[in-house]
Amino acid sequence: MAFAQSLVCRECSRTYDLAALYFCDVCFGPLEVQYDLDAVKAHVSREKIASGPPSLWRYSDLLPVERTTATDLGAGLTPLVRADRLAAVLGLGELWIKNDSLNPTNSFKDRPVTVALAKALEFGLKTAACASTGNLANAVAAHAARAGMESFVFVPHDIEPAKIVATAALGTVVKVDGNYDDVNRLCAQLNDEYSWGIVNVNLRPYYAEGSKTLAFETAEQLGWELPDHVVVPVASGALLTKIAKGFRELAEVGLVSAGKTVTISGAQAEGCSPVAVAFEEGEEDVRPQKPSTIAKSLAIGDPADGYYALREVRSSGGAVSAVADSEIVDAIRLLARTEGIFTEPAGGVTIATLAKLAREGLISPSERVVAYVTGHGLKAPEVMAPDGLDVIPATVTGFQDRYETKE
Ligand SMILES: *Cc1c(COP(=O)(O)O)cnc(C)c1O
Ligand SMILES: [Zn+2]
Repeated sequence: MAFAQSLVCRECSRTYDLAALYFCDVCFGPLEVQYDLDAVKAHVSREKIASGPPSLWRYSDLLPVERTTATDLGAGLTPLVRADRLAAVLGLGELWIKNDSLNPTNSFKDRPVTVALAKALEFGLKTAACASTGNLANAVAAHAARAGMESFVFVPHDIEPAKIVATAALGTVVKVDGNYDDVNRLCAQLNDEYSWGIVNVNLRPYYAEGSKTLAFETAEQLGWELPDHVVVPVASGALLTKIAKGFRELAEVGLVSAGKTVTISGAQAEGCSPVAVAFEEGEEDVRPQKPSTIAKSLAIGDPADGYYALREVRSSGGAVSAVADSEIVDAIRLLARTEGIFTEPAGGVTIATLAKLAREGLISPSERVVAYVTGHGLKAPEVMAPDGLDVIPATVTGFQDRYETKE
């Protein structure tokens, strides 16, 4: 895209051309896309965005690649719904749920993937790949198929079966004997062997930019205002870091008024909480963990962006907290019963953490809060399997003997 200028090292600020690179030759720091924001500012307007496509591509002036229908399955522009019943239960005021489970493959991963594979096509790459805990695999296989690319998606052997049913129909699923961090290491090695577009390796800087669109949409859907506080689930930490970047860019290009900081809080499962532990201990560096939680889409024990996520949270006045598996299941049910949204464990982590921060007074009823629900409940139905339901006789009295109803 005309406005993306270069890749810049997040550690030493050295710049690189917009190529399939992801770390700095000099200091090994991660690379990130840099824009000519003054030029964007002169060019964008709320009206221009509103007249754009009903997908994340309406924000293409702040993305690192031109829109191409080749990788467009309609990712983005998911509902932002006011959640008054849930807010009442949690003792909060103005609460919104960004329901990103309503993306083409039912998780927010469609956002970074549609952007990454558009860039892969621009680079002339023919094969897409990724290391995944499940949702990314589904998004890569679907968008690769749409783009006419071959795909190999690498997943840990113990992935939830429901997560790869669709993926196996769309592309090639490679099960690896190891956990996510092992799978990720393998993909970094395969990157040296093949000219593939590995979305979370050599395409990572472009991939990560897609997540900013969650911040852009939140502001647009709130009438171009920023929320006070957002709660974001943390796996690698890329989503949280890019939501923060997205809110900043909106102010820098004049789409929202400047001078307001959005407080950003992170949500993890206790069974994989390296960022929450570092936050609580006041550490800057994140100590890797061996994951063990039902929230498999967040089970990254050695999060690549953990350090940056911590910095964003601390500088915004937020917190990173972790919740137990039982709280995650309760929160899935609470969101379902109060708002009619069935989420996977990652969404349960977000809602349980929202509840915890509200209980601890770290989120107040005076704040306008947005919670990001990032994946659909049918991704991991086994955690909620309603076994043991009674069978009733097929008679009215059979129903009345077993259930009470108000009317
Ligand atoms: C991948 C994922 C996340 C978090 O992503 P990171 O950018 O790795 O922190 C959150 N929710 C769901 C459902 C995911 O699949
Ligand atoms: Zn560097």
